[in-house]
Amino acid sequence: MKWLGLLFVPIVFVLSFCGRYSEVEVEAKNYVDSLTSVVEPIYKAANLAYWNATATGKQKYYDEYSRYELEMKRIFSSRKDFARIKSFKEDRRIKDPVLRRVFEVLYNDFLLNQADTTLLRRITELSTRVEKKFNTFRGEIDGKKVSMNEVKRILRTSNDTELRRKAWVASKQVGEVVVDDLLELVRLRNELACSLGFPDYYTLKLYVQEFKPGELDRLFDRLEEVTREPFARIKAEIDSILAARFGVEEEELRPYHYSDPFFQEAPNIYTISLDRYYKDANVAELVSGFYKSMGIDVQPIIERSDLYEREGKYPHAYCTNIDRKGDIRVMVNLKPTEQWVGTMLHELGHAIYEVYIDPTLPFFLRDPAHSFTTEAVAMFFGRLSKNPEWLREMLNLSEQETEKIRSVVEKTLTMEQLIFARWAQVMYRFEKALYKDPDADLNELWWDLVEKYQKVRRIDGRDKPDWATKIHICSYPVYYHNYMLGELLASQFLFTIMKEEGVDKIKDLRFAGNIKMGKYFVNRVFRPGKKYRWDRLVEYATGESLNPEYFVKQFCR
Ligand SMILES: [Zn+2]
Repeated sequence: MKWLGLLFVPIVFVLSFCGRYSEVEVEAKNYVDSLTSVVEPIYKAANLAYWNATATGKQKYYDEYSRYELEMKRIFSSRKDFARIKSFKEDRRIKDPVLRRVFEVLYNDFLLNQADTTLLRRITELSTRVEKKFNTFRGEIDGKKVSMNEVKRILRTSNDTELRRKAWVASKQVGEVVVDDLLELVRLRNELACSLGFPDYYTLKLYVQEFKPGELDRLFDRLEEVTREPFARIKAEIDSILAARFGVEEEELRPYHYSDPFFQEAPNIYTISLDRYYKDANVAELVSGFYKSMGIDVQPIIERSDLYEREGKYPHAYCTNIDRKGDIRVMVNLKPTEQWVGTMLHELGHAIYEVYIDPTLPFFLRDPAHSFTTEAVAMFFGRLSKNPEWLREMLNLSEQETEKIRSVVEKTLTMEQLIFARWAQVMYRFEKALYKDPDADLNELWWDLVEKYQKVRRIDGRDKPDWATKIHICSYPVYYHNYMLGELLASQFLFTIMKEEGVDKIKDLRFAGNIKMGKYFVNRVFRPGKKYRWDRLVEYATGESLNPEYFVKQFCR
């Protein structure tokens, strides 16, 4: 990787900066510039290839994407560059805070790739193999193969307990198929972490995500404490409804009585469908009209985006910043339903974050502060499709209609958030234990946690790797907490805005036409990009550190 180490000092650069920067700072800045010139084009090409792949479903674009990904990994595994980055990072003569921050970020990006190349390759191969098994395996009901969609449909709608049990069991059959590879993958990841001086992979991953030791434990412990009672109440209510529906005692309820394989979503017992309010809406226009009313023009994003369903196209949704220079797009499959309005609000939340990041920051800092801060913004706006005030403002509903929606929707939202918060406890604590001791009795541990946090009883005598059926453990290791932190911060944003506008009740806060709210996000959340570490950004945006009390105030009544 000689070209990365090359030092070039353009004369113009020296003339304009030598007054402000010390000699070592000029050297450091030149190094960052040369690294940028190598990374930037590959970054852009990779994003474009992925965009084309998901837009068309064509294998040649997926292949192109993996080639660029590999190239990127090769760059970030350079030992020579890592050594330079490390020495710049530790050099106290570098005073410029932006420059110092660049090296913190680069250090973390390079660290994960500094292991033995054979080991890194084995990890990639193994996780690809497990993913492939996940994608191709079909569980069976009475000898007949069923898709996950079919399983989910049965769990959502069927009143036939025996069929439900079979469907649930079918959804867990993949566990036995992947468990050996998955455990091997966990051991290899631990080996990687140990080679870098960390006790296990879990600790390494939290380190590169810039969490201090113990910080997440404290947050999750607090959240466990405050959600315990309200969750128990809502869970008892759900159980009494389900027991009546299936004609069993509450103690007889088992995992297959709930409406999804992990009980991570709320059962549809109170929901009224909001779809009828959106059935005549042009979703793109509705959502872009909303953002515009806050002073944020999303039209250029929408023009570059891929909005509607097509054969071969990726069926889900995501947002991408192709070049960190303004080419920001969303991939969605809009339909006039509440779910797609929520998804469009969510993805455009990610998009506007990217749009307003200070363009004068170095390439490596033109990125959201943390994956959970951009998730928080997306969640803040994504929640609006179910917000009675927002519905009233956007669709001109009557006061009476709004009240009708409010009574049902508030309960649903509370239930959804509490159920997710308890499920996130299971994921958080399980993964931590998994990397600490992959040889423990994990089947047992999983159900101990599910019973404790989700209050779902295990099937008596069952000893299967049900934990291995959650694909995140393979594909997005030690990441799940970020979804929970996103929810916490979304609530903290809400109460910060209310406080600054002098509003006491959530229902009195205006969303549509609220220019102040738009400015709040642009200046206090988006603009700094990755210039501040996440904890500083949270303080900058809300005046205090990440605080679960606002989530509690909003959802745990
Ligand atoms: Zn998101």
